[in-house]
Amino acid sequence: MKTNTFILAIFVIFLLGCSSSTPIASLTPTITSIPTQTLTPSPSSTPKPTATPTLLLPSSIVFSIEDGVKPDDIKAIQQGIAIVHNYLETTVGGDETTNWPNFTVSVFNSSSNESCCLGLTKGSNGLNEPGPRFYTLHPEWSNNPLFPNTFIEHEKHSDHEYTHAWQGSLGCIGGRYGQPLGRWLTEGMAEYIAWNSLIKAGVFSHKQVIKFHVDSVLSQTGKPDFQSWENPDNLFDWWAYNYAYLAVEKLVEDNGGPIILRKLCDEAAKLAPVTNLRDYLNLNIAMKNLGIDKTSFYDELSIYFEEVLNKNR
Ligand SMILES: [Zn+2]
Repeated sequence: MKTNTFILAIFVIFLLGCSSSTPIASLTPTITSIPTQTLTPSPSSTPKPTATPTLLLPSSIVFSIEDGVKPDDIKAIQQGIAIVHNYLETTVGGDETTNWPNFTVSVFNSSSNESCCLGLTKGSNGLNEPGPRFYTLHPEWSNNPLFPNTFIEHEKHSDHEYTHAWQGSLGCIGGRYGQPLGRWLTEGMAEYIAWNSLIKAGVFSHKQVIKFHVDSVLSQTGKPDFQSWENPDNLFDWWAYNYAYLAVEKLVEDNGGPIILRKLCDEAAKLAPVTNLRDYLNLNIAMKNLGIDKTSFYDELSIYFEEVLNKNR
């Protein structure tokens, strides 16, 4: 594959992770925003999965599957959701997603003019509600050069989008209030929970996942800008997902484990209807209310990245 094509492929694949954040067409990063001279992540850095475990899928999760969807795609989505459901139940205080009225996971044998994979669906009131959607004929669904196994790639996307649905069920995405945690934390949380649910299921080791993210950020020249990445209207490139993942690692480490993610989501959901502030402007207050000084956290991030990058390069 030519370098440009390869970079474009990486870009497209990472981009699909952002799908449930109410994408706005004009905000879609253009090809010109892709660094032209980059090192592509080396194949040796690609996470090597071990076995994919079989976890029980709760019967409360309803699927709507269009005729003609490949059995492997159905299996990957269902298995991915079983894995992330288990993680939410055991590690982040519970999975409320299934309590959402008429909650349905939709799998289409078609493409769409949106992303391949989304966590939310427009409800009858016109607002985005929990409801993952997968378009299995969308070009983003296949051919990811960064993963050795498309099945696991699909599981990971299911985990990410299901996490957005979970965030929606708690109230920190969708509804009337957009993304009161801001973009980087909304996406970083979905990435963190997706990857860590696969780690918990024994698919990857933590070390492999960190190495993957480090190699990805080192493969490009963009610098993190978390302040800018709060605003969902600003550019959030594929490598921003990698930085956001690493930032959430630090947030979790500093604040007593993954349960902090639920607390932040709950806090933002509580705040948004009362502050009257535009969605992401609630992030400051949500963090402060939980004893996290956002400015100090951002300041510490640069040192943290330097350490993580040096240790894992
Ligand atoms: Zn996303």
